[in-house]
Amino acid sequence: MKRAALLLLLGCLFLSSCMEAPGLSLEIDPSPTAQAVLRPSPTASPSKEAAESPSPAASPSKEAAESPSPAASPSKEAAESPSPAASPSREAEPEAESLPLAGVAIGLDPGHQAHSNKAPEPVAPGSSQTKKSVSSGTQGSWSGTPEYEVVLAVGLKLRQLLEEKGATVYMTRETNDVDISNVQRAQRMNELGVDLVLRLHCDGSEDPEKHGSSMLVPSNDCTQAINAESERAGEILQKAYIEATGLHDRGLKYREDMSGFNHSTVPVVLSEMCYMTNEEEDALINTEDFQQTCAEGLCQGILNYIAQRDEA
Ligand SMILES: [Zn+2]
Repeated sequence: MKRAALLLLLGCLFLSSCMEAPGLSLEIDPSPTAQAVLRPSPTASPSKEAAESPSPAASPSKEAAESPSPAASPSKEAAESPSPAASPSREAEPEAESLPLAGVAIGLDPGHQAHSNKAPEPVAPGSSQTKKSVSSGTQGSWSGTPEYEVVLAVGLKLRQLLEEKGATVYMTRETNDVDISNVQRAQRMNELGVDLVLRLHCDGSEDPEKHGSSMLVPSNDCTQAINAESERAGEILQKAYIEATGLHDRGLKYREDMSGFNHSTVPVVLSEMCYMTNEEEDALINTEDFQQTCAEGLCQGILNYIAQRDEA
């Protein structure tokens, strides 16, 4: 009897060790089934949202299925969404006024573009110091994906979320093939008189260990009129973004050298959403699922900012 029990135990041990083997290979297997293993955030424990959200290989989430992809033919939502060209028609809808962002205009500026423009432009109004009009940004060290592609993907998802909350959203660009300088982007938003501009970027570094997200805010003397409000918005958006994504919080960065800030007359912040030169964050930002999480975090931040601003 004892010998039979021992054999049974050995058999179980052998079986379980066999079953673990495929699990181990999953972690290095780049196939879609491995996405779930790669997904958890590199630093903090993965956020609830990230853990619960289905991987891109699994059945697509409702949001992903509904959100119009830039390549696909425009869906009904996309056709109806107010762009700078189209006049917003939200006022006509009876329920619109009860939405939390009713009457709020948000500017989204997905950073960079497919081709850089090196023509100089003043770093601040009236300044003799210049910077190039717009660069093509960083790119994923592992994926090779350019920054301008992923920030536009997040921007389009965020636009949909904000519009669902009643906001009027203006985007500086909806495709990668544009030529709009950083000063022109700021001026366009000034003319529209938006409540807040959110610039969407990803970071890059020669150090592949560098990871996490920071929020840039203006701090130049020439932006004195918007510095405090931008800082307040930046703090609130960053908190919500970090909570949603579970990424390492690199905090607020005060910048006086950015032409896209210095020419702004409306509150403006810039999210460096992650490091594309970090292997894990490069993989994350290339998934629809994580892009959606980024958009949800930033949308929540804007909701919190507007709610607190209106309370004051
Ligand atoms: Zn950038």
